[in-house]
Amino acid sequence: FLSGRTALVTGSTSGIGLAIACSLAEAGARVAINGLGDEAQVKAALDAVRAAGGSDVRHFDANLLDPDAIAKMMAEIDAWSPLDVLVNNAGIQHAVPLAEMPVGKWDAIIAINLSAAFHTMRLAMPGMAARGYGRVVNIASVHGLVASKDKAPYVASKHGIVGLSKVAALEYAAVGSRDGGGVTVNCICPGWVETPLIEPQIEARRNGGSRDDGVRALLAEKQPSLRMTLPAEIGALATWLCRREAHNVTGASFPVDGGWSTQ
Ligand code: NAD
Repeated sequence: FLSGRTALVTGSTSGIGLAIACSLAEAGARVAINGLGDEAQVKAALDAVRAAGGSDVRHFDANLLDPDAIAKMMAEIDAWSPLDVLVNNAGIQHAVPLAEMPVGKWDAIIAINLSAAFHTMRLAMPGMAARGYGRVVNIASVHGLVASKDKAPYVASKHGIVGLSKVAALEYAAVGSRDGGGVTVNCICPGWVETPLIEPQIEARRNGGSRDDGVRALLAEKQPSLRMTLPAEIGALATWLCRREAHNVTGASFPVDGGWSTQ
């Protein structure tokens, strides 16, 4: 159902973003991937998206810390194929108490996790509105809904992207038609998902035991299902939000957190 559509997934050389890029490609989309990584990692990501069914896949190497690089990437994508689906997924973490948080980490986390989404949205959404179909899916976090200690910039950035998404959802709510699909903006709010991002936090809870012991300890703290989410499961929800039937699903934040935020 996405054939003829073009999607950008930021931070899709790894983890959740890569799984979302694969899921959108499987549904037929032309996919722009973005993210850091050496040549081998970028090639592996491109190969994975092609293997999922992507016949037209390109990597854009913009560093999302730099608004000028974001603007250049958005212009290049627009010249390639105007954007219908924008997934703001790139994100970084640094977990230490607020008073010990390096100022540079605060700035980088806000820039990548929040400001980059503002820039891609402000540049992509007018074109979506003009064409009557657009989907923005922002990968927030359960930390867009509730807090944990030691994550001041991360929690602030994720609450920020939930707010940003609500504003954009309202501004674009009346655009388009049921048949056209309209322009929607939503957040997905995962709890623990099995990706490289959380390895330091697993490591910190091993307590001399195995990696599995670390995983069990991490889940036991906050995620009542005691199960990790797999990246492909986030991909499936992101892709569903792109369906035409989801034209009236906008401004929402979907926890995928095994009950974490419901406690
Ligand atoms: P990951 O570390 O596997 O992937 C992060 C991606 O972002 C990579 O492709 C990386 O290259 C890219 N990236 C980082 N800095 C960048 C920069 N400056 N410019 C361009 N790209 C950059 O992490 P993940 O777990 O897949 O996380 C993806 C998103 O999901 C993040 O926003 C994260 O906050 C969110 N999230 C993850 C979890 C989890 O448990 N893994 C839970 C909730 C939310």
